[in-house]
Amino acid sequence: MKVLKFGGSSVGSAHRMKGVAGLIDDGESKIVVLSAMSGTTNSLVEIANYYTNGNAEGAADTIGALEMKYTKHVSELYASKEYADKAREVLAGVFAFLRSFAGKHFGPVEEKEVLAQGEIMSTNMFTFYLQEQGKDVVLLPALNFMRLDPAGEPDLPYIADHLGDMLEQKQAYLYITQGFICRNSAGDVDNLQRGGSDYTASLIGAAIGAEEIQIWTDIDGMHNNDPRVVEHTSAVHHIHFEEASELAYFGAKVLHPTCILPAKNANIPVRILNTMQPDAEGTLINNELEEGLIKAVAAKDNIAAIRIKSSRMLMTYGFLRRVFEIFEKYKTSIDMICTSEVGVSMSVDNTSHLNEIVHELKKYGTVSADLDMCIICVVGDMNWENVGFESRAMEAMKSVPVRMVSYGGSNYNISFLVRGEDKNRALRALSASLFNTQK
Ligand code: ADP
Ligand code: ASP
Ligand code: MG
Repeated sequence: MKVLKFGGSSVGSAHRMKGVAGLIDDGESKIVVLSAMSGTTNSLVEIANYYTNGNAEGAADTIGALEMKYTKHVSELYASKEYADKAREVLAGVFAFLRSFAGKHFGPVEEKEVLAQGEIMSTNMFTFYLQEQGKDVVLLPALNFMRLDPAGEPDLPYIADHLGDMLEQKQAYLYITQGFICRNSAGDVDNLQRGGSDYTASLIGAAIGAEEIQIWTDIDGMHNNDPRVVEHTSAVHHIHFEEASELAYFGAKVLHPTCILPAKNANIPVRILNTMQPDAEGTLINNELEEGLIKAVAAKDNIAAIRIKSSRMLMTYGFLRRVFEIFEKYKTSIDMICTSEVGVSMSVDNTSHLNEIVHELKKYGTVSADLDMCIICVVGDMNWENVGFESRAMEAMKSVPVRMVSYGGSNYNISFLVRGEDKNRALRALSASLFNTQK
């Protein structure tokens, strides 16, 4: 059985929902995971913020605006009064629930309950729509099988057990369930973090040993470069899980590495497909590496580079630990790192504590920082035993001033740190030389 996930953009209107209904109706039984309709989770976050700040009026305004949108969706989605009424009844329950927090205690548990309503609405509306079309469909409530363990991680054995039972008890052609939402080990409503519907799909796929997991979104898979900068980019039709993970950090946010980990571990292929162009090939991610190929180039802006130089570093141990502890103290993660015998350069994308970090690093050496930098990442089969790939990337960068180079951290990547203003030039140069494209 396949697991198909449709994101908020794919179910963002009645029209889109009807499109999804057509897409999934191909005669094969499947599990369909839905996000909330686009914009809904953001509105729910806003509502929760108002309640947290004791502003029931602000919450009521946002709830009212959201309810109006859903009233419109319902009027556009159903052909019959019978099903429109069924949907209205569920939505009325949801909106009454959202209003019920006015003047009451509102803590983290209540916040999670509020955030869960988007997926509850989209899946109920969609299930009613399919029923109206005469389809054999069952709504599987994610809150009955999606669980976190006491460490806050998805409890795969629990998920597999409970989902397996539910699938056995209720045979159907189409199963619909909510992405993103779950319960924690105490049984309270929780979620898998923003964008977590992809994670749900991957967990369900792993739990049932799916044949394939499909992530349907509004872009046509991964591209070999940024289409906003480089002309004639092409879709990457096949990529290894590890290569996809390298790219994920670089704004290719189609899939977060954590989200695909369950699929990777269970060796289940993941396919990224475009709801707007359902016949396009998309991107297949699996554990097969195409040897000797460079797959994609990606960039990440607003990076700061910090350099610390110290002759005390020479031949001593513990120096890097002390440096890293300062970053840890300020909850700032380091992305690239390059060392020499007397200096180390690190890049960070979170600069909110940069001043404090630089100040504290001065205990250990001479510190300088370069702002507005950009990481350019080349992804592909970069196994160190292959010859020539890193030099091709280097050669392409010959006219761009490079602040740092990182190679060998994994077998799939070489990264360059350049000035932000040189980013487009670097992306085009790499593309022209690695994929023969030009702008
Ligand atoms: P979905 O709503 O399908 O879950 P995402 O959460 O992945 O979509 O993305 C939200 C928005 O960000 C979408 O409108 C999509 O167009 C955009 N987006 C996603 N991935 C990329 C990417 N690699 N480059 C540019 N934009 C992206
Ligand atoms: N609805 C959630 C969000 O907007 C989860 C998701 O769409 O993946 O973050
Ligand atoms: Mg998403």
